[in-house]
Amino acid sequence: MNFDLTDDQLEMQRVLRDFAEAEIRPHAARWDEEQKFPVEVVKKLGELGFLGVIFPTEYGGGGLSYADYVTVIEELARADASVGITVSAHISLCSNHIFEQGTEKQKQEFLTPLASGKWLGAWSLTESEAGSDAGGTRTTAVRDGDSWVINGSKTFTTNGSVADVAIAMAVTDKAKGSHGISAFIVPRGTPGFRPGRKENKLGHRASDTSEMVFDQCRVPHENLLGAEGDGFIAALKILDGGRIGVASLALGIAQAALECALEYSQKRKQFGQSISSFQAIQFKLADMATQLDAARLLTYRAAAVKDQGRRVTKESAMAKLFASEVAVRVAEEAVQILGGYGYTKDYPAERYFRDSKLMTIGEGTSEIQRLVIARQLLSQ
Ligand SMILES: Cc1cc2nc3c(=O)[nH]c(=O)nc-3n(C[C@H](O)[C@H](O)[C@H](O)COP(=O)(O)OP(=O)(O)OC[C@H]3O[C@@H](n4cnc5c(N)ncnc54)[C@H](O)[C@@H]3O)c2cc1C
Repeated sequence: MNFDLTDDQLEMQRVLRDFAEAEIRPHAARWDEEQKFPVEVVKKLGELGFLGVIFPTEYGGGGLSYADYVTVIEELARADASVGITVSAHISLCSNHIFEQGTEKQKQEFLTPLASGKWLGAWSLTESEAGSDAGGTRTTAVRDGDSWVINGSKTFTTNGSVADVAIAMAVTDKAKGSHGISAFIVPRGTPGFRPGRKENKLGHRASDTSEMVFDQCRVPHENLLGAEGDGFIAALKILDGGRIGVASLALGIAQAALECALEYSQKRKQFGQSISSFQAIQFKLADMATQLDAARLLTYRAAAVKDQGRRVTKESAMAKLFASEVAVRVAEEAVQILGGYGYTKDYPAERYFRDSKLMTIGEGTSEIQRLVIARQLLSQ
């Protein structure tokens, strides 16, 4: 077993870190304060090839692995979790759903501009009355000749108001329950499709989280993604991969919080010495680093299982559950180590703390991850 990044991954990390240090990190606090979606940075990430890393080169992607993807998302989140989540929703939810379930024509038409960074994607399962219980989807799609007419709304969609194309799950046969939900590709500008309310959030404030409204929205039958009725089951499979992305985001936030606390603890003097000389602070730092490493190993394992083409439901839920809860603990300890300054916007620790919390909620809460893991254990 080799726990080190490969030379190629280290090089990719260096390129991304240079970019992030120059063009993301210096602006992250302001974007957060102003809730400003960093459209130019996302465009540049597309030009640099970071919006399609896991997809084959024939579709404009980077032809890289999930293990590489973990490195990319962690590095982005280390600079700004809002940028990280924008990219992870685009890659592992929207683009990957088209890659895994799409026809060749859909891949050419939609995946290629997404993977090559020309377009940004959104993906939505969640509705106001269907969160953890996403099978309770109420948005409907009714077949009408060669097209489908979609009505309803999806909430909490990352990139919901800025995406060029969205994937939305809708009920096509109510009688069949979760086997009566289908996925649809809806390009921006389709009549009857518009962004709704943009959320004003605790964290990830520079990322776009919006409602998507469908009012007599007509899409051609060829925009049905996967088989009719398979949308919910496919969405669960897509979430298996997506949760590796969330775990990677959590690693990036925790890494940034640890670095912030380490640096501050060595500079800050109280009682005539740096606070890092106090064993109480040292123990905190040691626990933060140990938990973060454990989270990283679980995330790398999930990525390795995914790269082997094996089912990753349990491993990705474990990685997401553990890494997200570690991110919250590490970020909270970082605030504590910075004391009163940690509670101000003079330092990024408070932002890491706010950003960390979403990790335990998005793409399935911690409670749902525990249910997923337990179900896997009990079915073995
Ligand atoms: C910033 C942000 C971005 C998001 N991006 C996307 C996106 O791009 N696409 C998308 O589809 N969704 C997205 N979501 C939605 C997210 O996945 C849901 O918020 C999440 O799945 C939880 O659903 P809910 O908010 O309705 O909570 P609820 O399901 O109402 O849960 C409330 C509480 O009840 C608990 N609970 C619910 N059911 C059970 C149970 N059976 N057993 C034990 N406890 C339970 C939950 O764990 C939670 O603590 C996003 C959310 C946020 C906040």
